[in-house]
Amino acid sequence: MTERYDTVVVGGGHNGLVAAAYLARAGLRTLVLERLGHTGGAAVSERPFTGLDARISGYSYLVSLLPRRIIDDLGLRVELRSRATASYTPVLRDGRPAGLLVEREPGPATEESFRVVTGSDKEYAAWREFYAETARLAERVAPTLLRPLPRARDLKTAAGPIWADLVDRPVGEVIERRFRDDTVRGVVLTDALIGTFADAYDPSLRQNRCFLYHVIGNGTGEWRVPVGGMGAVADVMAHAARVAGADIRVGATVTKIESDGSAAEVEYRSGDDERRVAARWVLSGVAPAVLTGLLGIGPADPDPDPDADAGAGAGAGAGAGADGRRRPEGAQLKINLLVDRLPRLRSGVDPAVAFAGTFHVAEDWSRLRRAYDEAAGGALPTVVPGELYCHTLTDSSILGPELVRRGWHTLTYFGLQLPARLFADAGGVEEEAVRRAIAALDEHLVDPIADCLARDAEGRPCLESKTPQDVEHALGMPGGHIFHGDLSWPWLNDDQPVESSAEAWGVATGVPNVLLCGSGAVRGGAVSGIGGHNAAMAVLAMIR
Ligand SMILES: Cc1cc2nc3c(=O)[nH]c(=O)nc-3n(C[C@H](O)[C@H](O)[C@H](O)COP(=O)(O)OP(=O)(O)OC[C@H]3O[C@@H](n4cnc5c(N)ncnc54)[C@H](O)[C@@H]3O)c2cc1C
Repeated sequence: MTERYDTVVVGGGHNGLVAAAYLARAGLRTLVLERLGHTGGAAVSERPFTGLDARISGYSYLVSLLPRRIIDDLGLRVELRSRATASYTPVLRDGRPAGLLVEREPGPATEESFRVVTGSDKEYAAWREFYAETARLAERVAPTLLRPLPRARDLKTAAGPIWADLVDRPVGEVIERRFRDDTVRGVVLTDALIGTFADAYDPSLRQNRCFLYHVIGNGTGEWRVPVGGMGAVADVMAHAARVAGADIRVGATVTKIESDGSAAEVEYRSGDDERRVAARWVLSGVAPAVLTGLLGIGPADPDPDPDADAGAGAGAGAGAGADGRRRPEGAQLKINLLVDRLPRLRSGVDPAVAFAGTFHVAEDWSRLRRAYDEAAGGALPTVVPGELYCHTLTDSSILGPELVRRGWHTLTYFGLQLPARLFADAGGVEEEAVRRAIAALDEHLVDPIADCLARDAEGRPCLESKTPQDVEHALGMPGGHIFHGDLSWPWLNDDQPVESSAEAWGVATGVPNVLLCGSGAVRGGAVSGIGGHNAAMAVLAMIR
């Protein structure tokens, strides 16, 4: 017998859950189908170390883009806690260890550290000016993220000259023009490369779009620590969906979606059973490249087309394969560590200050660009750039009381410029990438990381790593791309036609009653719930 719902949400990632919560609250009979045995997708906490009560954010770890309004609308009991330190970048200048400190509220210590590292006050002045202008753009864009897509012209004038620098030309230009110092330039560039494989001057501007998403969250771009770990964020979203009346089925793998544009049937596998469910609407929380396979309108795994560009308002690889967009490819190495003490730094700075914020390793401008060139040429970067932070300095609740008493800490590392293609062949590439990432970090430490690693119940060092392939295998994110595909500008070009609510909200797929509600929607990337919210609003707009 075929069941009937108003809406079926494919994929129980955090975005699918947000969509389900909004739709169920609006009175629509809503079903979420999730392939894994639990909800959350890339927003989950895990206990990776045998016998140890450490609930680590397995994939995503910091929150910036989740709008306050979604938290309030859905009554999400989630706490996002500010970090005392925004970032710390250890450097060796003339062989002498030092570090660039950026406090969350920059004060004299930030100013002094710029002076020590760069030799004058000029870089700090340039920094403040640049981020003040960026904030002006962020304040304009952030409120639009939960509305139908604005037009570029509506934002451009208000944003001022920074628009041209961040939107029209490769972000590398403005960074080189405004900053002189290799390390300062690199720290600015990192926001353009998190989850995006690109050079500073990439003509596709995918690095500009990535940069923008990293600085606009809630109008401030502040990245905060989810108390209880990332799993706590998705759990309250699942709770909100259930309380609103949505049905959530885990262990339910969708295998096919059929639609005539106004009615749909979804086939899914649950254990040994093949089931069908009929719905007026289907919301896809899976990547666009997965959706095309389920719809049978394109290969699930399209051929790479590195020259195509997602561009404005197109969705992160929306319709990938069907319209020749490039196949998503992740470019990160995630490493989760548990340490029995925080390592001391050669610069002498308190580790509790340095590791509380984003700790940049080998992310100088020149090193990031060299790493890109090496990786684009098919080689593992000689020096692996990346960044880490200590969750437990801001929120120790993810560790059991005994581990807190012992003073243990988690460290979360995210390596850049490591495209999936590098890990395609077996043969120790992952181990070597981890070794190089740790070596780059150790350069700045008195205590090498290996000496600080805790041991699990079986005596193994507490370090787990995840390549893009691991992410794809575990979560079904094509190519292990953390945003389901390259990010899109969060607006429409001035002359871009809009013919439906789905297009207006940036959630269209080409099939009128099948909408994107995940990271692949325009504005859907990262842990934000925005994709889910916007798909739900598009459905409600079509009903009302
Ligand atoms: C290593 C890593 C680090 C990251 N760090 C951050 C960070 O710190 N901050 C941040 O904001 N973002 C971060 N991101 C990005 C962020 O996690 C994602 O953009 C976001 O979680 C995507 O959410 P989603 O709900 O759209 O999709 P997903 O989380 O991908 O959820 C999709 C769900 O669909 C399910 N599914 C797939 N195929 C099927 C099928 N056929 N049938 C049924 N279900 C299916 C999957 O199992 C999954 O649960 C990171 C991502 C990764 C991988």
